[in-house]
Amino acid sequence: MNKGQLKVHSENIFPIIKKFLYSDHEIFLRELVSNAVDATQKLKTLARLGEFKGELGDLRIEVELDKKAKTITIKDKGIGMTKEEVEKYITQIAFSGAEEFIQKYKDKLDQQAIIGHFGLGFYSAFMVASKVEIYTLSYKPDAKAVHWVCDGSPEYEIEEISNRTIRGTNVVLHIAPDSEEFLDEARIEGILKKYCRFLPVEIQFGKKKDWIKPEPKEGQKPEDVKYEEVEVDNIINNPNPAWTRKPTELSEEDYKKFYQELYPNSFDEPLFHIHLNVDYPFNLTGILYFPKLSNRLEVPKDKIQLYCNQVFVTDNVEQIVPDFLILLRGVIDSPDIPLNVSRSYLQSDANVKKISSHITKKVADKLEEIFKTDRDALIKKWDDIKLFVQYGMVSDDKFHERAIKFFLFKDINGNYYTWDEWFEKIKNLQTNKHGVCTVLYALDPEQQHTYISAARNKGYEILLMNSVLDTHFIQHLERKIDKIVFKRVDSDSPEKLVEKDESVASKLNEEEKNNLKKWFEEILNKETYLVEVEALSEHDAPVMITRPEFTRRMKDMNSIGAGGGMPWMNGLPEIFNVKVNSNHPVYWKLLDEKDENRRKEKIRQLSDLALLSQGLLKGEALTEFMNRNIQMLMN
Ligand code: ADP
Repeated sequence: MNKGQLKVHSENIFPIIKKFLYSDHEIFLRELVSNAVDATQKLKTLARLGEFKGELGDLRIEVELDKKAKTITIKDKGIGMTKEEVEKYITQIAFSGAEEFIQKYKDKLDQQAIIGHFGLGFYSAFMVASKVEIYTLSYKPDAKAVHWVCDGSPEYEIEEISNRTIRGTNVVLHIAPDSEEFLDEARIEGILKKYCRFLPVEIQFGKKKDWIKPEPKEGQKPEDVKYEEVEVDNIINNPNPAWTRKPTELSEEDYKKFYQELYPNSFDEPLFHIHLNVDYPFNLTGILYFPKLSNRLEVPKDKIQLYCNQVFVTDNVEQIVPDFLILLRGVIDSPDIPLNVSRSYLQSDANVKKISSHITKKVADKLEEIFKTDRDALIKKWDDIKLFVQYGMVSDDKFHERAIKFFLFKDINGNYYTWDEWFEKIKNLQTNKHGVCTVLYALDPEQQHTYISAARNKGYEILLMNSVLDTHFIQHLERKIDKIVFKRVDSDSPEKLVEKDESVASKLNEEEKNNLKKWFEEILNKETYLVEVEALSEHDAPVMITRPEFTRRMKDMNSIGAGGGMPWMNGLPEIFNVKVNSNHPVYWKLLDEKDENRRKEKIRQLSDLALLSQGLLKGEALTEFMNRNIQMLMN
């Protein structure tokens, strides 16, 4: 037997590894199973190249838990290691990796996982084990089996043994007293399912119970055969997940099945998928799904999962995937994304930036393709994906340039138009005297019916804008597209929505107009309501309450908590304009009314009706209004 000294200068490397290597101790299993997969894949490669001529046999990796002995064993039938290799790869390289790691990070160690490719994977075993043993036999002809053991101090023992005849490696972890939580089947199975679900070599963890129907015995009818409970191998993973296969081999059904496999607890079906496959300038495969989005912008619980060569890394993909694509689901697999590195590192990584813009491009390609080949299909799903496209356009200029070609605007009649189509439709009638085209929109066609019909009477077309992002989106479009302005139908009187040169003549003289203004001001709260007498069409309502576009938008922005609003706006009361239509015939009689109380009553009735149509008549005022009307019917 040989004794050796681990090649580390720092005596107390293990406590540091234990504490800081990975913030998540459960990662040890991912690391050791990944090593077992690597060893197996290497052997397969050697066999393919003719360098290994023996039988490959069953290459399954096994994970075993022995509660009594307090051990977890990871067994593979891969290339194994000779004594020299164990000394070189396990002790020298890994330990020099550890040394380098500590040197580099000794001043910055914090709870964040900051491991990259330091060749430290194996040593993560010491986060949970007080002693680690390796039993291994190399695939090389005439190799001798080796036993290595290390109790976490910088000393280890290594010897050649004769009682191992199976090729491959067993790593035995003697679980430390403070890590006994890992001596639990459900916990281990959970960790394996999390990280190893799509590893390319079959992984078995113990047995599980299953029910099968055996073949009928002689003379037995098939319907008489009873189900029997049997023990079967508990296989953790699907070694050939859909994203590793060619799109041409997969049907629509396969993509849906894979979605279910990824998100077993999700009951919705994805709307579309995008199969990613890039090999230059970086390697990346994956499948992204558009889920059904409701009119909400919350962080979804089913997220995009990031893999590195089929090893699960994280579902926290914020740095890799552009913000707006966080709403998508699916998998991305790239060996070029560093495993478990710090956030600041990811942000500055050039590959990560390229990956992000590539994904954006692919998403735009896919949507444009559907728009071009099957516009109806896009329309059908539009309400479910619109929010996501808007988010993309607002946050990413490149995506905007692509998406403005297929973004669908819905009008209040439920028809869909691209921007170019819509602009063609409205530009003649809705361009104002300054050459700016006014894009009119409504939030709620029911509630804003009066305003909509007034605008329709003038021949204007109206969009429906009712998503949570619309206030933002509108501002965005005004910035992006020259000479347009958005106005909500209730933001001004119909005459003024689109400012034209021609004005309507007033049927009332100045004195009459001043009187009207005074009478309305007497009954309305001056702080909130600004009364204006205006000559509108006699078909328009006698009083209209409008909410100036600018202040209303500011309020909207603040209420969705989005940037761009002004915090001080929150406390301010909203200001409304009260437009008294001086051309409405109702005022001819009213101006002649000699009974002051009658006149007041009529003014109040007109103003209440206008408030009611904007949903502003509430509480006591509403009760009074109702009582007054009932009284009127009784007279
Ligand atoms: P990394 O996997 O990042 O290289 P590790 O510390 O996990 O770093 O492993 C160091 C080396 O030890 C591996 O590169 C490999 O050569 C060898 N090794 C580890 N586990 C096994 C195994 N199960 N079978 C064969 N070789 C292994």
